[in-house]
Amino acid sequence: MKDGYGRTIDYLRISITDRCNLRCVYCMPEQGVPLLPHDALLTYEEIETICRAMARIGLRHVRITGGEPLVRRQCWRLVAALRAIPGIQTVTLTTNGILLEDCAPQLVSAGLDGVNISLDTLDAAAYRAVTRCGEVGRVLAGLKAMQNYPHVTVKVNCVLGGAQWERTAVDIAGLARQYPVHVRFIERMPLADGGAPGCAQDDVLAALARAYGAAQPCARPMGFGPSTYVQFAGFLGKIGFISAVSHKFCADCNRVRLTADGRLRLCLQSGDTVNLRELVRGGREAELISTVQEALRHKPQSHCFDRRGIEGACMAQIGG
Ligand code: SAM
Ligand code: SF4
Repeated sequence: MKDGYGRTIDYLRISITDRCNLRCVYCMPEQGVPLLPHDALLTYEEIETICRAMARIGLRHVRITGGEPLVRRQCWRLVAALRAIPGIQTVTLTTNGILLEDCAPQLVSAGLDGVNISLDTLDAAAYRAVTRCGEVGRVLAGLKAMQNYPHVTVKVNCVLGGAQWERTAVDIAGLARQYPVHVRFIERMPLADGGAPGCAQDDVLAALARAYGAAQPCARPMGFGPSTYVQFAGFLGKIGFISAVSHKFCADCNRVRLTADGRLRLCLQSGDTVNLRELVRGGREAELISTVQEALRHKPQSHCFDRRGIEGACMAQIGG
């Protein structure tokens, strides 16, 4: 699939629910978001149909997200269905990890290729504060459970913030010394909490260098996303940075998003969406493909968080 700027689009992030078992301060208001009615959500079969159609025109990689994807029943059924689509090369999942220990065996049996675990701090009280209710021990149990499946790539995504950010960064990066997991620091985007300032990539790298010595840059890109990686001596995993605001990577954007109610969202920031739900429910597959192709022609060239923030939703509704 090509967009109007000639970029190859082969990656779809699929939000399978707008529900979540946490309330991270930068993502959702404390009372949650107004939830979609049940019949507005795409069924797993409808998601599969959309992906099958998009795979015919070049979709290669899908990531399941939310809300919290593991709160939706038997999420691994969708993993297996997507994994079986001809042309789809990877099926991955982004989760807060709270339910991961329980779900790991089924997800792995279904063919999951990778899991990203969101974890902002190892400190129990700080974790409870940032998530408003979570227990960090459950996330760490999920991360440990994944060590039983070394063929599945595990990444930890950390949004840093607060006065203790330097200590937190050193602790979280230490997971990549202890386990074969890649740790990525994600710049906070201007969303639910009005855009509290995050931590600049260069400051985080300098803090890590003070703790672990100088890092070597990694020449080869890893995965299909916009991270840049470095390696610290003696670490089993790499350390990455995703800095959407300060280091814009829109020129290489390869992705679009599918919301839980079946809207194709062309850019994380832009509120413009195209409704695919009625097409898939009407069995209009040819029209679905041409609608996606036409929509891609209008994918924005770049985001402008710096000026406008995100339109039309919080991250839990967009899919991260
Ligand atoms: N609930 C799952 C989780 O937390 O991993 C999946 C959905 S969540 C919206 C996906 C990712 O978006 C998480 O890693 C989260 O940290 C990130 N996120 C949410 N709000 C953000 C913001 N304002 N800036 C940067 N990342 C954000
Ligand atoms: Fe839920 Fe993920 Fe948003 Fe946190 S970041 S509130 S876990 S959807």
